[in-house]
Amino acid sequence: MTSPVLETVGVRAGYGDIEILRGIDIVLPPKSIVALIGANGAGKTTLLKTISGLLPLRAGKIALNGEQIGGMMPHKVVEAGFVQSPEGKQLFPDMTIVENLMVGAHSKRARGRREETMEEVFELFPILHERAKQRAGTMSGGQQQMLAVGRALMALPRVLALDEPSLGLAPIMVSRLMDSIEKVRHRDLSILIIEQNIFQVLKMADHAYVLENGEITKQGSGSELLADPHLRSTYLGL
Ligand code: ATP
Repeated sequence: MTSPVLETVGVRAGYGDIEILRGIDIVLPPKSIVALIGANGAGKTTLLKTISGLLPLRAGKIALNGEQIGGMMPHKVVEAGFVQSPEGKQLFPDMTIVENLMVGAHSKRARGRREETMEEVFELFPILHERAKQRAGTMSGGQQQMLAVGRALMALPRVLALDEPSLGLAPIMVSRLMDSIEKVRHRDLSILIIEQNIFQVLKMADHAYVLENGEITKQGSGSELLADPHLRSTYLGL
C-alpha cells in the first residue's frame, strides 16, 4: 500500500470541558477524495479545525506526508501543505479576483511559482480568468466558491480541505462545483471534503467516513455507503 498523504490516529479535541472528538482515525491516500459525512454537530468541522491547528490537539497524532503536524501553529500547517478553502465570506470582496488569488500564495513555498499556479487555476475555473479584474464581492455565490477553492489551490496544498463548499448554492452550481472538484483530484493532491449534499459527494468520493457524536461509526467507498440501508434511511431519506 502507498503511504498516506494524511493520517490521523486517535485524535481527541474539544472546547473547554467538552470533549467533541473521541479518537478519530482517518487516512487519505494520494490523489484521493475522502468525504466526512454526519449529522449537524457530529464534529466534522471540529476535526478540520484540529488538523488546521486552530484547535489544540488533546491526544493522538496527525501526520502529513509522514511529518507530524499535530499541535503545530496554523501557518505552519499551511506551509506543510494542509490548506482549507475559506468559505465565500472570507474572501476579500473589494479586491479583484487576481488579487484574491495572489493572497492565497503568500506562503514561502507557494510564492515562487504563483504565476504558473494561477495559470493552472484559470485552466480549472475559466470563469475566474474571464472575470480576472472584477471585484470578488460582485460575483455570484457559486463563482465565489470557485474563487475560494482557487485561492486555496494557490497555496500548493498537498491536502485541500473543503467545508461544505456547496452551502447555499443552487443545484446547477453544486453540480458544476463538484465537477471542478473532481478535476482537481487529477492533480497531485488529495481532497478532504465535508458535505451535506451526501448523494453528490458519495458519488465522487473514493472513501467516506461517517461521524456520529465525535466517533467514526462507519466507513467505506462512496458506492458502498450509497448502498448502505442505514445510511440511506438516516441521511438520504430513502
Ligand atoms: P455542522 O454541520 O453543524 O457544522 P459538524 O459536524 O461540523 O456539524 P462541529 O461544528 O464540529 O459539527 O460541532 C461539534 C460540536 O461542537 C457541536 O455540538 C457544537 O455545538 C460544538 N461546538 C462547535 N464550536 C464550538 C465552540 N466554539 N465552543 C463550544 N462548542 C462548540
